[in-house]
Amino acid sequence: MDFKEQVKSSVDIVKVIGEYVRLRRMGATGRYSGLCPFHQEKTPSFSVNQSRQFFKCFGCSVGGDVIKFVMDIEGMTFWETLNLLAERNGIPIPKRTEYSDAESKLRGALMDMHALAARTFQANLRSPQGGEAREYLVRRGLSDEMIEAFGLGYSDPGWDSLTKRFSAEGFSAELQESSGLVRRRQESSGHYDSFRGRLMFPIHNESGKVIAFGGRAMSSEEQAKYINSPETPIYRKSYVLYNLHRARDGMRHSNRVVLVEGYMDVIGVYAAGVKEVVASCGTALTATQVRALRRHADTVIVNFDPDTAGINASERAIQLLLDEGLRVRVLSLDGGLDPDEYAKQHGAEAYRAKLESANGYFHWLADRARVKFDMRTSEGRMDAFKFLLPSIQKISDRLERASIANDVAGYLGVETGLVLDQLKRSATERRAPVPQTPAQASISAIERILLTALLAGQDVREQILPRLSAQMTEAFQTREIVDVLRQMAPADGPVPFEALEGRLSPAAQSLLHQIIAADDTSDETQRLEHAHACLRRLEADRRKGQIDGLRARVKSAEGEGRLDEALRLMAELTKLERDNQKGEGL
Ligand SMILES: [Zn+2]
Repeated sequence: MDFKEQVKSSVDIVKVIGEYVRLRRMGATGRYSGLCPFHQEKTPSFSVNQSRQFFKCFGCSVGGDVIKFVMDIEGMTFWETLNLLAERNGIPIPKRTEYSDAESKLRGALMDMHALAARTFQANLRSPQGGEAREYLVRRGLSDEMIEAFGLGYSDPGWDSLTKRFSAEGFSAELQESSGLVRRRQESSGHYDSFRGRLMFPIHNESGKVIAFGGRAMSSEEQAKYINSPETPIYRKSYVLYNLHRARDGMRHSNRVVLVEGYMDVIGVYAAGVKEVVASCGTALTATQVRALRRHADTVIVNFDPDTAGINASERAIQLLLDEGLRVRVLSLDGGLDPDEYAKQHGAEAYRAKLESANGYFHWLADRARVKFDMRTSEGRMDAFKFLLPSIQKISDRLERASIANDVAGYLGVETGLVLDQLKRSATERRAPVPQTPAQASISAIERILLTALLAGQDVREQILPRLSAQMTEAFQTREIVDVLRQMAPADGPVPFEALEGRLSPAAQSLLHQIIAADDTSDETQRLEHAHACLRRLEADRRKGQIDGLRARVKSAEGEGRLDEALRLMAELTKLERDNQKGEGL
């Protein structure tokens, strides 16, 4: 067994995908379904088939095996994915040099460099040169436990200590530059460290590997308070959420996540016992990040800083979260405190209580509106309501929408009649979004049943394939799959799925995925019976086609006066009809 087969046979696709997508079991057939992580949807069309070890989305058509899934969701190469799955399942990994392509080698080296940098920064923080950074952390009330848990560190203020370390470990200058941790000197030759004299926050990918850093300045002379790693082959900012790998379990458990602005906020909230907390790092929140949240929880509590920047960021985040179908609550803390400060001043208990009582986003937006518009006039109140309307309309449930509209109207002091009017008017203006589902050609029942049986067992293939003539499958939508099955060397048991898939055109692959993702509760004997029934039906159809064809030829021969030919054809027809009756009697 090669490495890939070994990995695939030791993991369960349901368990692996289940770590990224909340799956629900459908019946007793080993089929699971959930919201697709690869496109935006509100009702599940993503399906995982346990017996086939295969996933398929009927909305956006992605599908494949467990390796394909992890590659897509983690943005990893094939070999990286194999190594990751092997590592998680305690399968010994062959030497990287043997099992990787150029891209995986580059990414692997960058990961190694980041792991080395993280260790170096942590050691620096513990050493005498980390004194100032440690004092800062003590002032911010961070326990040793949290410093350890979040892997905080300190970058050497000298110019090239990390660069030297990398060189000593044999990483080339080119690799060092692509890590983003080292920069090339402009004026002279040589390289220097990107992060110097900063408190270092390692940033992890969803599987817990360090892929970037955020660095906080220790002295106020530094121009940038925070700097972050640039984008690299292992770090795409718009995809990564700070702390997601630690928050995941808590998010599943509580079905919610707290979204904060900065690294220190995340650590503060986490220390207050709320582990389901994340931040976008170094960018405004993106739709990709929101989708990553939605895979693990339905409710997001936005808890940004109460300053102007934080308020504007909250407004944008709320719209983005609503667009992706999440439930949104907003927590604004009194006293102009950010989450970290609040938890420190009032205690973990008080912060958790605040979280529990966080209001729906529309209350927060209504408060925003009251500040923005002149609430003393009825025009101002109406403008405030119109400001809120787009967000209210994103609520998909009609009754909930109406009830919230009423609530908000009452809160703003707008007449209910006017509210209903506005809701109605905008409802007609708003066009129902056309579903983006690509047209799925539906496969006829005969083809589906036959192929299900053919894919499942060698017995069926041996008995059925020889009798399934090319003529019978000529009009099949799935003809290409049957043709490839005919060509494939006889193998025991189920057809090796990848071998089959690999030989098909993309269109035929998609048909194959449809067949495989469908429910199949029948056993071997039933499948064989069904296949025979289909075959009889196809043979009958074929004979009927021949008979119809002969009849037409007899008719035209008679019409054109070719009587000899008509008689010969007639004899043929009679024989065929007799055979057909016999055939149907079988
Ligand atoms: Zn999809």
